[in-house]
Amino acid sequence: LIELKNLTKNFEDQQVLRGINLDIYENEFLTLLGPSGCGKTTTLRIIAGFEEPSDGQVLFNGIEISKVPPYKREVNTVFQKYALFPHMNVFENIAFGLNIKKMDKNVIRQKVERMLKLVGLEGFGSRDVTLLSGGQQQRVAIARALVNEPKVLLLDEPLGALDAKMRKDMQRELKKIQQEVGITFIYVTHDQEEALSMSDTVVVMNDGEIQQIGSPTDIYNEPENRFVASFIGESN
Ligand code: ATP
Repeated sequence: LIELKNLTKNFEDQQVLRGINLDIYENEFLTLLGPSGCGKTTTLRIIAGFEEPSDGQVLFNGIEISKVPPYKREVNTVFQKYALFPHMNVFENIAFGLNIKKMDKNVIRQKVERMLKLVGLEGFGSRDVTLLSGGQQQRVAIARALVNEPKVLLLDEPLGALDAKMRKDMQRELKKIQQEVGITFIYVTHDQEEALSMSDTVVVMNDGEIQQIGSPTDIYNEPENRFVASFIGESN
């Protein structure tokens, strides 16, 4: 679905990505895993279109999209800071993008109700978002990102602000949502355990380069180099 071809990114004299090559498949849950500063977020921002690569290509269904603006890509993003609209209730937050498209009110209601059910917030439509727990706010953010039916959802440390118990619950929820919707997730985390427990494919990165691509079992049992072995080992 998405191909990254020899992506590089420089910020002034710093090379942040050093030739990233990656194929991402339809309905895959793929996680970019690596220490802080290794270039995960930059890779995600290039896929979203918020950042242009210095060199290399991003292909979507075989078509180069480096010049396509973010809002025209079939991609949506959820960040750690959910940035909900505080003056709107849950329903209005989720419906925001659909209202802009001037969609029929009944269709909007149906779509929002479906999303509320998907993220386990049935009956929460009229709630004030500022009074929800962190986990509930993140569910609203996920519903808002999915309601436009993107082909791909990009998630940048979406559970980073939650406590350990909530994070565990949300990990299971996210995996379930991804399978139910049948959508590609590209997920960024520095948490080894999180990456290994949710993903179909884990991409271990360090210092702007991919160290290993594989299933959680492969990465865990057969690390290809010292970096992967020690980074994965740190979680135990
Ligand atoms: P983290 O988990 O801390 O977010 P990351 O792996 O996502 O780390 P990036 O955010 O992609 O890493 O950052 C990679 C490097 O690029 C860092 O050294 C960062 O300081 C630098 N960088 C990112 N964005 C910019 C920018 N807009 N201008 C200059 N340098 C930047």
